[in-house]
Amino acid sequence: MKQQLLRHEFVEQFPDQPTDGTVYVSMLFASAMHLCCCGCGNRVVTPLSPSGWTLTFDGRTISLDPSIGNWSFPCQSHYWIVKDRTDWSRRWSRGEIVEGRDRDQSAADVAARPKRSGGLWRKLRVWR
Ligand SMILES: [Zn+2]
Repeated sequence: MKQQLLRHEFVEQFPDQPTDGTVYVSMLFASAMHLCCCGCGNRVVTPLSPSGWTLTFDGRTISLDPSIGNWSFPCQSHYWIVKDRTDWSRRWSRGEIVEGRDRDQSAADVAARPKRSGGLWRKLRVWR
């Protein structure tokens, strides 16, 4: 069954038997996990990082940003988790899925790439 209302639980480690409709948040591992909100039972792990997901806790509810796109599952469900609720979106087209994947990939690439410092600046100084 599609989940509409969610709960959240702050845990150290994700449970072996997670409950449907619960978002587990581990600060220790900087990630969140829940069972796919479509009810298919697949585990969705969302790493919290600048190139991954951002968790917002307003003291009562949690939100995850960006949306959850389960393209690797047969259900291909896509939804947002906003204030302990699932916000369902229409199913994405193939093209949009590929584009979304590309964007995720490049964001991760940028984060992983070491910063080159002063390349242009050095060139400018040589030109003088
Ligand atoms: Zn699903």
